[in-house]
Formats: sequence, structure tokens, C-alpha cells
Amino acid sequence: MPLSQYELEKREAEILAPYAQKSVDSRGRRFSERTESWRTGYQRDRDRIIHTRSFRRLEYKTQVFINGIGDHLRTRLTHTMEVAAIARNLARSLGLNEDLTEAISLAHDLGHSPFGHNGDETLDKIMKGSGGFEHNRQSLRIVEFLEQKFPDFDGLNLNWEVREGLARHDRPESENSEIPTYPSVSLEAQITELADEIAYYSHDLDDGIRFGVLKPEELSAQIAVWSHAEEAIRSTHGQANPTIHRHAVIRTIIDLEIQDVAVTTENNLERARITSSEAVRRHPEALAAYSEKLTQDNKALRKFLYQELYLNPEIHDLNDKAVEVLKQLFDYYRKHPDQLGEQARSRITTEGLDRTICDYISGMTDRYALSQAASFGIEVNDELLGMPSKNSGESRG
Ligand code: MG
Repeated sequence: MPLSQYELEKREAEILAPYAQKSVDSRGRRFSERTESWRTGYQRDRDRIIHTRSFRRLEYKTQVFINGIGDHLRTRLTHTMEVAAIARNLARSLGLNEDLTEAISLAHDLGHSPFGHNGDETLDKIMKGSGGFEHNRQSLRIVEFLEQKFPDFDGLNLNWEVREGLARHDRPESENSEIPTYPSVSLEAQITELADEIAYYSHDLDDGIRFGVLKPEELSAQIAVWSHAEEAIRSTHGQANPTIHRHAVIRTIIDLEIQDVAVTTENNLERARITSSEAVRRHPEALAAYSEKLTQDNKALRKFLYQELYLNPEIHDLNDKAVEVLKQLFDYYRKHPDQLGEQARSRITTEGLDRTICDYISGMTDRYALSQAASFGIEVNDELLGMPSKNSGESRG
């Protein structure tokens, strides 16, 4: 006999830790849905997220490197999958709810604009004075409002805990949202936030080296996270070739970070005598954390990545050219709202023109934004059109 929702919920109660968020204890959906199911509520939420257009568009959105300039570089989609994998591993090792963790992970970057952080910043500047733009808030807006798939409500009608995880604790209150009332979020949401960092620390190092803007020798000499991973593999790996060595270091970094978070978090939970998901939320600060030492080391790594990678002219200048296109596109739609998509046009009266344009543009993939711009006569730099760069020809194994 296939397992019913009831049996799956019973199984959660048996297997998960006392501080895990059980699906049977969910605060539920905004609009009640009466359905017999073979999935728990969070499994359904995960599936709803995967089947959205916003999710599919992640494939053609920039993470750090402009989408299309190298076939091996991370995109928002592959980043999202790495986050989900890391978060699920953490969830399983701590006895947390993997389905909830996965749902939050898969939706966590839906709200990002095209062209990475530069795109987000640009939209925020344009929207200054009319509510700004912030990607976490936008992720929530997508799942609560912008996705149109159901006859009886806007959005996906996800369970409260998934939306809580997307809101993140530092988010300004969103227009329609009844979240949050607690000082902290679920452990599932907390570990997803850390998994997000672990994913981008490791894949940005990987992509940065591959792209030729980060040097492994400099990392060995300056970055503790890197040199500790090298130490950890020295005895087993000997003199591997540089590419194999890089892969070994990167996966060791991920492994060490996950272990550190799992051990530190378990200690924190024990010390604070946390025995329920309610107690997790009432706790004044996050219980999922890196150790003191790794917090410092990660801080140094993050600073290094900013200086050497995110603000590196080779990457930054191209992203700057991209946001120039975004600005002009915004202006164009202000003058020609009739050129917005049909669904977007129908929101102008309730949401206002600028918010409608902001929603519309932020949802675009890089390549759609560029092709729209080009079709309106906006000048688009050749480099942005996905010409394979000098660095994308690394051997394709
Ligand atoms: Mg992310």
C-alpha cells in the first residue's frame, strides 16, 4: 500500500528531532485547501515551486558571472540546486524536516533580478521612493502574488513556514504578508540561510579560479578556509593535477563547513535546552551557526571574494554594462506601458506603473531582458550576448 499523507506525517513525528518543524504542526495555508493526499504539505509546496515559471527562469539568470559567458559557470538555477543539496544534508544530519528545507531552498532566490546583485541594486535605486526592491521580499511576492496558477487565489498558497523561510528575519514587512511575529525563524530556514552562504563561498571560489581572476596560490597563502581544506586532504591526495586539486579543495570546504554547522548547531540547541520548533522561534538569536573560529574565517573569505571577485573589473565592468541596459529598459516601459506583457499590464491599476515594471523586469532572464532591449532599439554590448569568453573553453570532460 502506498503511504498516505497521514502515515507520512506520523513517520515525521517518529523520525524527526523534537525541534524540527513537523508538517502536521504547520500554521497552514492562507486559503484552506481540502485535499486527500499522498504527500505532506511541505512536499506539495516543494512541487509547486518547481513547477513555476519563475523557477524555470533561474536557469538563465546571472549568479555572479553574466549568464551565457561560460557553460561551466554557475547560474541561479545551479546555485539553487547546490543550496538545496547542502541544506538537505544539514537537515538530515540534525533531524530536521528535509521537505521544508528543500522547499525554502528552491524558492530562496526566485526574487533575484537579471544580471545578479548589480541588477537588484539598480532596481532598488530606481524604485527608491516607491518601496524599493529587495530580492527576499520579491521571492515572497512571487509565491504570494505574482505566480498565477490557481483559480481561487493569487500566488501558490504555500504553507506559512515556507513563506517564513523566504522572508528571512531582516526583511521589511511585505505588503500582503502576515509574517513574522517571532524573533527567530525555524531551524529549517536558518540552515538554508547558512547553506546559501556555503554554496556561494565554495562555487564562487571554484568559478573565480576557473575564470582566471582568483589564484590558488593566493588563496593558500591568505585564506584560512582554503588552506585548512588543503591541509585536510594533503595526506590522501598527494600531487594531483591543479584541476583535480581544486575540485578536492572545494568539496572539502563544503564538507568542513557543513560539519562545523552541524556540530555547532547541535551544541547550541543543547545548551539552550531547546525541545520544540516553537522554542526555536522564541529564542532571541539564531541557533544554527558556524563555530566562532569559522565565523571569523568566513568573514575573511567573504571580504576577499568582494575585493578580488565581485568587484574585479573583469566581472564588474560587464555587469555594469548590463545594468545600463536594465535602466534604459525601465525608462522605455515607463513611456510605453503597452509593451509590457499582458499579465503585467493587468496589474498596473492596482500596483502602479513603476511597481508593475519592477515586477516585470525583475522576473526576466538575462537573455530576455537583452533581447527586449535590443528590439526597442536600446544599445546592447556584444559581450553581453553570450559570446563565449576566452575562459570558457576549459576541457569538457
Ligand atoms: Mg542564494
